[in-house]
Amino acid sequence: MSGKITVTSPLLPNLDEFYEMLKEIWNSKWITNNGDFHNQLERELASYLKVPYLSLFTNGTLPLITALQALRVTGEVITTPYSFVATTHSLWWNGIKPVFVDIDPHTCNIDPAKIEAAITSRTTAIMPVHCYGRPCDTKSIQDIADKYGLKVIYDAAHAFGVEINGKSILDEGDMSTLSFHATKVYNTIEGGALICHDEKTKQRIDYLKNFGFAGETTVVAPGINSKMDEIRAAYGLLNLRQVDAAIEARHNVAVKYREALSGIDGITFFDDIQGVRHNYSYFPIFVDAEKYGMSRDELYFKMREYNIYSRRYFYPLISTFSTYRGLESSSESNLPVATRIANQVICLPMHHALSDEDIQRTIEVIKL
Ligand SMILES: *Cc1c(COP(=O)(O)O)cnc(C)c1O
Repeated sequence: MSGKITVTSPLLPNLDEFYEMLKEIWNSKWITNNGDFHNQLERELASYLKVPYLSLFTNGTLPLITALQALRVTGEVITTPYSFVATTHSLWWNGIKPVFVDIDPHTCNIDPAKIEAAITSRTTAIMPVHCYGRPCDTKSIQDIADKYGLKVIYDAAHAFGVEINGKSILDEGDMSTLSFHATKVYNTIEGGALICHDEKTKQRIDYLKNFGFAGETTVVAPGINSKMDEIRAAYGLLNLRQVDAAIEARHNVAVKYREALSGIDGITFFDDIQGVRHNYSYFPIFVDAEKYGMSRDELYFKMREYNIYSRRYFYPLISTFSTYRGLESSSESNLPVATRIANQVICLPMHHALSDEDIQRTIEVIKL
């Protein structure tokens, strides 16, 4: 056994280059509130991600909360229990009742075939997640939304740079949100973004993320403070230049994992989808305890004994947390697929700097 292998490792900019940018910020004495680096990063990200309108935020949770405000969503929202808690928390912070719908085992995304049965007279929107960066069935979801007059907000925290046949997945629905948290494919330490389709909506979002200020003395809405500062914007500009290389390095890790794990009974994983530009944000495997001869938790803790820190992501389901478990839609009988997957999943170490030796050590423990 040797050094600790972590599930992720942050993509860090070159320190000398970062220092040069810090000097510029110090000279300008403009450290937040729509500074030059902030505005440059908004433009560069919109261009890189092939989306028309993008607003930077200070993390990936406030864009979710703000999207619901901007679209004036109320009542009930249909969402997935198989996500990070922030997805559902954003509804709670808006006084909206989450209604959980089960997932499709082939994608881990909300199952469109089960959405219609969850719609009531109070439903106003659907909030799906592109889980692990794998695209939701956006066409089926949009068809249902159009039929019932619902908004669609995608939590695209995992889907940075994901495209289908050259078109950004972030362009789907009414809005999409991103997280630039340190653990994500692209990070600004903490950060996030909200993507929309027209200038007027971006204007409203920009008011909302700055207390609702529409001018020196005009407040048009009860906005929040979610501005990104110049220091993290500068960091983000540098990281944007190396994110393609990072995604390529992650791709190589995925190829090696797939090669090595394909013969193991009881271990399954996802393959690439034709036409999709994946970002390899996570490498989930699913453990069938009977076939593999060991439960997910046994494997998870065995890996830890070997100093390999994988992550049970997503476990437990959001619907099991105390805030949400009283909801009717939280019952296990409503969520059989999500319940099963949450008990089988392990996200293996996956990041740009994972060495061949780290990959080999991880594989060997799974093969033991
Ligand atoms: C990371 C993440 C978020 C929250 O992002 P933060 O930047 O940590 O606030 C929201 N949803 C999903 C699915 C995430 O993985």
